[in-house]
Amino acid sequence: MGKKYVYVWNKNRVEGNSKMKDILGGKGANLAEMASLGLPVPPGFTISTEVCKYYWDNNRKFPEDLAPTVEEAMRELENVTSKKFGDNKNPLLVSVRSGAAISMPGMMDTILNLGLNDESVEGLAKLTNNERFAWDSYRRFIQMFGDVALGIPHEKFEEALNEVKNKKGVKQDLELDANDLKKVVELYKKLYKEEGKEFPQDPMKQLWISIEAVFGSWNNPRAIKYRQINEMDKQGLLGTAVNVVAMVFGNMGEDSGTGVAFTRDPNTGEKKYYGEFLTNAQGEDVVAGIRTPKSLDELKNINPKVYNQLLEVMDKLETHFRDMQDIEFTVERGQLYLLQTRSGKRTAAAAVKIAVDMVKEGLISKEEAVMRVKPSDIEKLLHPIFDTEELKNAQYIGKGLPASPGAATGKIVFSADDAEKMAKDGEKVILARPETSPEDVGGMNVAEGILTSRGGMTSHAAVVARGMGKTAVVGAEDIVIDLKNKVIKSNGVELKEGDWISIDGNEGKVYAGKVKTVRPEGLAGDISVLLEYADEVSVLGVRANADIPRDAKVAREFGAQGIGLCRTEHMFFGSERINKMRTMIVSKTEEQRRAALEQLLPYQRSDFKGLFEEMEGFSVTIRLLDPPLHEFVPESDEQIREVAKTIGISEEELRSTVKDLEEFNPMMGHRGVRLAITYPEIAEMQTKAIILAAIDLIKEGKKVQPEIMIPVVGNVKELTILKESIKQIADELIKENNVDLEYKIGTMIEVPRACVVADQIGAEADFFSFGTNDLTQLGLGFSRDDYGKFIGDYIEKGIYEKDPFQQIDREGVGRLIKLALDGGRSANPKLKVGICGEHGGDPDSIEFAHLVGLDYVSCSPYRVPVARLAAAQAAVNYKRGKTVNY
Ligand code: ADP
Ligand code: MG
Ligand code: MG
Repeated sequence: MGKKYVYVWNKNRVEGNSKMKDILGGKGANLAEMASLGLPVPPGFTISTEVCKYYWDNNRKFPEDLAPTVEEAMRELENVTSKKFGDNKNPLLVSVRSGAAISMPGMMDTILNLGLNDESVEGLAKLTNNERFAWDSYRRFIQMFGDVALGIPHEKFEEALNEVKNKKGVKQDLELDANDLKKVVELYKKLYKEEGKEFPQDPMKQLWISIEAVFGSWNNPRAIKYRQINEMDKQGLLGTAVNVVAMVFGNMGEDSGTGVAFTRDPNTGEKKYYGEFLTNAQGEDVVAGIRTPKSLDELKNINPKVYNQLLEVMDKLETHFRDMQDIEFTVERGQLYLLQTRSGKRTAAAAVKIAVDMVKEGLISKEEAVMRVKPSDIEKLLHPIFDTEELKNAQYIGKGLPASPGAATGKIVFSADDAEKMAKDGEKVILARPETSPEDVGGMNVAEGILTSRGGMTSHAAVVARGMGKTAVVGAEDIVIDLKNKVIKSNGVELKEGDWISIDGNEGKVYAGKVKTVRPEGLAGDISVLLEYADEVSVLGVRANADIPRDAKVAREFGAQGIGLCRTEHMFFGSERINKMRTMIVSKTEEQRRAALEQLLPYQRSDFKGLFEEMEGFSVTIRLLDPPLHEFVPESDEQIREVAKTIGISEEELRSTVKDLEEFNPMMGHRGVRLAITYPEIAEMQTKAIILAAIDLIKEGKKVQPEIMIPVVGNVKELTILKESIKQIADELIKENNVDLEYKIGTMIEVPRACVVADQIGAEADFFSFGTNDLTQLGLGFSRDDYGKFIGDYIEKGIYEKDPFQQIDREGVGRLIKLALDGGRSANPKLKVGICGEHGGDPDSIEFAHLVGLDYVSCSPYRVPVARLAAAQAAVNYKRGKTVNY
């Protein structure tokens, strides 16, 4: 006995069910399930996806015992329908339908009315006393069979059909009578001849050719491409199934019809029946848009009995499948039949609303609700988007990387200063630069969006824009941003300063002119409820990377449970501060430096106080000064003049100091803890500011949990030296002020050496935070600023699956993390560990963080909602056995 290849369903028995999607495909599995539920489904059988696999594995041959099994199933179908396949008087007609485990809409094909030929069409006409219906069915069959099974172009059939319509002077198919349709059939047959194809009169032949065509369509270029784009190849799909289903007819007159129905509104998610139908029509007429369908409500008037029955069925299906259903139905002379049901596609807004409503209705659990919404849905809902109507008329000028989501429109400016000036005057601006640098942060902050022509997803512009929740398109290579002449040139379009431009950070597209944006509701209503469910389900905590109190406030509103990274250097970009910072950096002596630091201290203290206040009750991790100093040195003449004046040296001398600070490889230069080793006074000042800010709040009766983080540690001695000085200063201040304050000291793990000696470091640290940007850079030896030149080739050749700066390279950087974690926790079981790189907001990396057993991830404030959902999904997938621990 061979394998079981065919599964039948009919009023006597049902062999499949909805859990068998892998081998029956979604369509076949759900047809069987509906039949089991006693719903009106025409009988039929499914040839399994395993046959499809066999067919392709064996040079397009079928298993030997398939033919007799299919013939047997056809005999069973004849028995239950009391019709005969190929009979001239009472012919059994069937549809042959594709259907894979995962739906691939429109990729493969269906043939209806199979079994008709020149003789049985006459028999059908007589039997039903409806000649038009018989010939309509026949011409549809010849057309679909020719198109799908024999590859005759669809347009040629349409041309023939139009020829008859034009001759008669009518527009609608429905206006053709039986005689016209006979003419159409004649023309179709002529077309077959012209194309060198034969229309088989033998129904059995028709059936096998069609079955083979459907299995064949699994690997048509369209379907292959679709699976690639949707990353379906890894999911182990066997192929498509073939469903052979007894025909029911919606084209038998005005008391017949066909339609689709959704159990809830797929656009808004509202709980109301939604759908469309056409009377006297078949199959895909509704989708094809041949006639304008009627709304489901109208069916109520046309046939209240069927309408009510349909509503009942819809309720039953939704309750049974516990999800919004998309249903295909046909009415044959007042009789309702169901031809398909599946979970309906929906908009992001509908996904959230339906998930939350179904929890409230008691239909699904919170855990299930969390799995029903994609992280990208949340993202979409939180950023402005272009008005779809207006977008149709917009002039597209080029494309870059979608670095930071949202849609922004504004007047073009070419410098950060101009951006600030124009924004002050109340103008909306888009900052366009070949690339950005820390200098530009002020301008970026006031701009609606940022456009650059160079750089990748982790370029300065991209990282800062994401941090700010600003729309950005970066690396738009074919758009020339000419700073000198203040023009943007692309695709023959030239835009001047002050002209309107619109950028789409979801797709990376750029448009000339002003396009209206609409802002979806914030973290209100259903989204916030869904994310509360997520928090209940997840194990990982979610914190935010926030540098200033305003960002911390946003982060908290989005549900962040603390700050995982405050980059102190970002606090110095304000116009009054930056020169003090520059002064500090170029100071020649310790006294000069201390004097500059003394001036910076009050700013830091009040910023930290603000952060602690916004995050009251949660931990706040503050990183000591980290950046390569070149990011801060004065550059323009004006800056040089001002700084030279402040520290009382000549401009010339200052220029030479700046030159001395230049490094060949600043990313691996004098930065991070190395700064503090050389200039301990910097860390001392920052410690003071942190502890004093905390003490201020404690005195106001507030809860503060500061965590001091030392960056770029690679050797435990760096940590022990810093720790001693921090402790000394902090403990003294605490004692002096006579308060109770607990603080933590930890390190950022971003140098591979630190991962190797993590047992030593862990023994000295209260916490680790993985700086995955630098750890990726140093771990792979890929410069963050230059890898854009080759990463495309690497991904194309499959060396890395995804951009390793966006999604953690699990097998390389991931192992470094695991090594560090094991080492660190072996020395200090209470070690708290998180991620604070860009990866902290990436769902796949968040899943990795869960599996490896981190305590939290930290990401930019606007990513927090996405991260909360992703953290919950990681927990559920693990619980369900879909993933394993590292
Ligand atoms: P798709 O996967 O593209 O939706 P289907 O196999 O579901 O293709 O069929 C296309 C159309 O034909 C649908 O509207 C479906 O309801 C209709 N149809 C399929 N089989 C039958 C049948 N046996 N009787 C009547 N209509 C059918
Ligand atoms: Mg369908
Ligand atoms: Mg770093």
